[in-house]
Amino acid sequence: MYRNPSELTEREFDVLIIGGGSFGAAAAREASLLGLRTALIERSDFGSGASAECFKMVHGGIRYLQHADLGRLRASCRERSTLLRIAPHLVHPLPIAIPTYGKGRRGRAFLGMGACAYDLLTLDRNRAIRDPSRRIRRTRFLSRRELLALYPHLESPDLSGAVVFEDGQMYNPARLVLAFVKAAVANGASVCNYIEAQGYLWRGRNVVGVRARDTLSGDSLEIRARLTLNAAGPWADFVNRDETRFGTFTRAPFSRDAYFIVDRVPTAPIALAIEGLSRDKDAVVSRSKRHLFAVPWRDKTLLGVWHRHWMASPDAAHIASEELESWIKELNTVHPALKLTTDEVSFANCGLVPFGETATEHELSFGKESRLIDHRLTHRIGGLVSLVGIRFTTARADARRALELLLRQWPRRFRGLASASAHAQLPGGDISNFDCFRAECAKSLAGMPESTIEGLARNFGTEYRNVVARERLDASQAETLVGKSTLLCEVTYAIDHEMAVRLDDVVLRRTDLAAGEHPGRTALERTARAMAARLGWSGQRTSEEIERAEEILARHHARAKATLDAGGPRYAEQRAAG
Ligand SMILES: Cc1cc2nc3c(=O)[nH]c(=O)nc-3n(C[C@H](O)[C@H](O)[C@H](O)COP(=O)(O)OP(=O)(O)OC[C@H]3O[C@@H](n4cnc5c(N)ncnc54)[C@H](O)[C@@H]3O)c2cc1C
Repeated sequence: MYRNPSELTEREFDVLIIGGGSFGAAAAREASLLGLRTALIERSDFGSGASAECFKMVHGGIRYLQHADLGRLRASCRERSTLLRIAPHLVHPLPIAIPTYGKGRRGRAFLGMGACAYDLLTLDRNRAIRDPSRRIRRTRFLSRRELLALYPHLESPDLSGAVVFEDGQMYNPARLVLAFVKAAVANGASVCNYIEAQGYLWRGRNVVGVRARDTLSGDSLEIRARLTLNAAGPWADFVNRDETRFGTFTRAPFSRDAYFIVDRVPTAPIALAIEGLSRDKDAVVSRSKRHLFAVPWRDKTLLGVWHRHWMASPDAAHIASEELESWIKELNTVHPALKLTTDEVSFANCGLVPFGETATEHELSFGKESRLIDHRLTHRIGGLVSLVGIRFTTARADARRALELLLRQWPRRFRGLASASAHAQLPGGDISNFDCFRAECAKSLAGMPESTIEGLARNFGTEYRNVVARERLDASQAETLVGKSTLLCEVTYAIDHEMAVRLDDVVLRRTDLAAGEHPGRTALERTARAMAARLGWSGQRTSEEIERAEEILARHHARAKATLDAGGPRYAEQRAAG
């Protein structure tokens, strides 16, 4: 992947996709697999929007059982299987325990019946998944004693045990987005980060491309395409903001979803569903309290997800420190034995996702599906479809639907064309048995820290061989390691082969440097120096990149804020105000 903006202006594309999040990246792969001349532009870095902020769950749709929405349940389950199949390095099964209490709606019989009904409705959940380690197991039960051995803080007189079902978990959402982008490139797509769509090009009432700006060089460019897909997620409405063409600017409701990460080594490899204090307005079977989740991820625990009605710009999305404190209070109220403190928070993520149409500030209603807009019907505008994605899990299928809608404006031959996208493995995903592959990595990387081997195997899959081939592995670890577990050759690989052009691209999205925590100033500086040497940055540019990365990390990281308070710019507060 080489960044070459001029490639975007050299020809007319069949399909231009705006937005390089999970939906845009999946759409680019899909279009390129169909043999269309495809372009993908992203105003920042790939996956840097809501996608990289995601809670990392690959939902199999069990939640939709209580909404009696079998269509969505089946669709989610299909996409969970797809991701386990096409990205076995980046997605793995995750068991989730729901504690059961007494009899009735919180009891073992009721919840167990629901989970077993889900098993029956998803009997084909492991179709074409040959790797046993990537198959979703059926529901099982834990006794009270077994559950308390894993989670002693759950002790309560009416606790009877737990129902355990499985979903998927992403190892690294940003790299999953990148894997889709790389697949598109491998199929001939032209992709470029730091290119912002600023308005459409028109022929009569048809969109025929975009006017764009290279946000690195400041250059303007025109990108021509027969069809355009606006997949800018929470920003999609802003891309269409043109009153003469689209009428008065309005936005459907969004939720600012948020979660945080604590520096607690998980006590068990099983996630835990915790009853929070708010209720699920849309549940038809049981209007019980909404579940929050405590999820093991690497050596940390993810806690979330909280929702808040949010009508301001996605650029202003942030978490106020009072909110973080109130969530910790909520968790300590429902499970006092947790004794969580704000000091343990190592990272906090947030972003916008569509809310239900009836959502208000005080009445949460969750978005049901991705918004798909055919502008021929809504505005009598041809050549344009907008897609606002709701779940990373269903990005591939929804992107496919969006393309099908767009391709109705194209010669007939694309209609209903079978796509390989549900089966063709993503780059690095050609692994038939992950455990054997992992053992092979450990052997060939003998001497490396365990976390480095894990990171290479999971982030790159079989591509790890290209990454490490670039460096003599017998070099001393002091020279080879940047941060806790990242190799210097991962940094150079990201620059040379993965279009990383800014420090935060490498630190937050290409490597594990900032996986759930601040990488430390020394690691930031070493990475910046490596990038400066490769990309010819001046001393001033290098300092600016470090400062920018610190500011972005401060949004995610409570402790980094302390560093900034000592004199750095107040990026988080500027964003909050803006
Ligand atoms: C806190 C949180 C937790 C979540 N947890 C889960 C989960 O566990 N499982 C799950 O399946 N889903 C989850 N989701 C939902 C999921 O992350 C999103 O639905 C999904 O990532 C949206 O992808 P997207 O591509 O539509 O949007 P984005 O990822 O936001 O991508 C849109 C992209 O468009 C770019 N863009 C904007 N304007 C322009 C322009 N003018 N020109 C070019 N590019 C532009 C942006 O920079 C951005 O990168 C979660 C979301 C959040 C916020």
